[in-house]
Amino acid sequence: MPRKAAASKAAPAKVYDRPLSHSSISMYLECPQKFKLKYLDKLPEAPKWFFSFGQSMHKALEFFYSIPALPAPTVEELLARYQEGWIKTGYKDAEQEREYFADGERMLREFYAKNIKTFKLPLFAEYKFELEVSGVPLLGYVDRIDKLDSGGLAILDYKTGKSIAKERLGEDRQLTMYQMAVEKLLGAPVESLTFYHLPTQQPLTVGPRPKAQVEALKETILTVNDGIQGRKFDPAPGEQKCRWCDFKPHCPAFRPGFYGAPPPAVDGVESPAPRSRQAELPSAGDSARLAELVDRYGDALARLKALELEAGRLKEDIAAILARNGYVRAFGSRFEVGAAPEVRWDVRDRAKLLDVLKRHGLYDRVLKPSAPEVYRLLDSPQLSGDARRDLEALAERKETPGLTLKPLG
Ligand code: SF4
Repeated sequence: MPRKAAASKAAPAKVYDRPLSHSSISMYLECPQKFKLKYLDKLPEAPKWFFSFGQSMHKALEFFYSIPALPAPTVEELLARYQEGWIKTGYKDAEQEREYFADGERMLREFYAKNIKTFKLPLFAEYKFELEVSGVPLLGYVDRIDKLDSGGLAILDYKTGKSIAKERLGEDRQLTMYQMAVEKLLGAPVESLTFYHLPTQQPLTVGPRPKAQVEALKETILTVNDGIQGRKFDPAPGEQKCRWCDFKPHCPAFRPGFYGAPPPAVDGVESPAPRSRQAELPSAGDSARLAELVDRYGDALARLKALELEAGRLKEDIAAILARNGYVRAFGSRFEVGAAPEVRWDVRDRAKLLDVLKRHGLYDRVLKPSAPEVYRLLDSPQLSGDARRDLEALAERKETPGLTLKPLG
């Protein structure tokens, strides 16, 4: 039996009164404290290149499919709109921005070539939906909805990131939410759900979600809403998610006293009871020891970095003297060194390199033609002769001095 969201009769003001979206629900499930810091406290996050890139690509494709009538825009018009709508923020530097801009252009050209012959006006491009699930408001945008000859609907979502695992396709909450919203608001059955992976131009399609999966999503939405309205904002730290979280300076999990004690009260609201998981965390007695170890670990890594820099400089000096004198080996009183040149490859034409990687089915192995990935590929004994020949034609082999070192005796 479907349950209702917390009753509103004489209820206090809602903790969060905006509609939930797929991303805000996912964030709450990932870390309730992160949800609070972002959506309630509205702390700013640093711009991220992958959001800028994804939005730029989505805007260009929205333009492509939003025309009121045929014919379809030309590829030049598509690329002009891409350039116009390009979002520059979040990139490490101008070079990284240039690389991704060129990669996006390449993806759009390929998208156009692959889809222009079968181009049809969609039912909706960038379809905005708003609905309620048992009193909980939801909001979202579906990249594209096509009407099928059968009268059913096909939902499509563009992806610009890494390749998508098959299991994710079957379980992804975003697609389930889109199906639920579209069927309810447009009154037609959804017959297929697709993630269109732009880097490889692969449409990954599954059939509609069964009813039980849609019901399970509704339960998840209500559980998340209950957590938010009940002010359950415990931090849920984890190595990967905290590493990339902009809110660490504001997060109770990173303040003294979190381990072994409940997190401090937030906004004058009483702290939640310690979670059972906290019983597994270090006791209060271990806190001081833990803090000392963390500092010593940081100091040790700093010393290690300084030593690495010194070793690098010594290596360069030795290699220069060996090269100047034509020696291949030299001895100290305790160690011996041998000249061992290091090889790297300078890629001349990135666009051609991409073509070669794709032609030989290697694109997924490097995802983008970053230099270290391509060196690894060129050094791989599994690389076929043809692929090696084509790749080597696009790259210049360069040797820099290197050394081997072993103790004497
Ligand atoms: S730093 Fe970690 S625990 Fe804290 S809000 Fe971010 S993800 Fe959550």
